[in-house]
Amino acid sequence: MNISIANNLSTVADQIRSACDSAGRDIDDVLLLAVSKTRSADEVRQAHEAGLTHFGENYLQEALDKIAELGDLALEWHFIGPIQSNKTRPIAEHFDWVHSVDRLKIGQRLSDQRPDSKAPLNICLQVNISREATKAGCLPEEAPALAQALSRLPGLRLRGLMAIPKATDDPVEQRQAFADLRVLLQQISADVTGLDTLSMGMSSDLQPAIEEGATIVRVGTTLFGPRPPKTA
Ligand SMILES: *Cc1c(COP(=O)(O)O)cnc(C)c1O
Repeated sequence: MNISIANNLSTVADQIRSACDSAGRDIDDVLLLAVSKTRSADEVRQAHEAGLTHFGENYLQEALDKIAELGDLALEWHFIGPIQSNKTRPIAEHFDWVHSVDRLKIGQRLSDQRPDSKAPLNICLQVNISREATKAGCLPEEAPALAQALSRLPGLRLRGLMAIPKATDDPVEQRQAFADLRVLLQQISADVTGLDTLSMGMSSDLQPAIEEGATIVRVGTTLFGPRPPKTA
């Protein structure tokens, strides 16, 4: 087994445990999603040997190659990157979760293209919680109506909300964005049943995210080390 991925995993597990302790939360209510974008299939295999089963990918072709190569392992694949509407079919066919649904058209296509032989595709509605001009995600005020529409699509199972808050050094601002997403999920839950997921928190802000209610944290760098610059 790769010593460094195993060591890194124990570091992340400690961080999750201490955040759960300080928030009085059960550690089993927080899923660690290993973000494996730019990592080789071999590194994913090593991470699996270290105990991880959920992997997050941003780039479709790279992900499909890894999914094919690792077909002998029982892994759950989460798509977390931007989605082009002409690329929904392979996502619907090969992934277990999609965190980055931010418009109805994408949800409709994923629902239509989900194979009948598979369980409905788990999705999160991505929200541009910090209202950044350049960021993906629906605006917070659009989320309730979109969530209702997405929850009615037969090929999908809407699980909750995902956000990537604005990068900031201000811990108060950072925590507020996570709290905003939590409150939004509570509001939407008045009209939509079965929502159990807040996908928020990455390597640098996992602790406040968990303290504000994250149920999935998406961690790349702390597990695998700094990413090599993406070519092409
Ligand atoms: C890359 C990425 C992550 C992981 O970021 P790290 O800082 O490496 O932990 C999480 N979520 C999304 C959507 C990403 O694109």
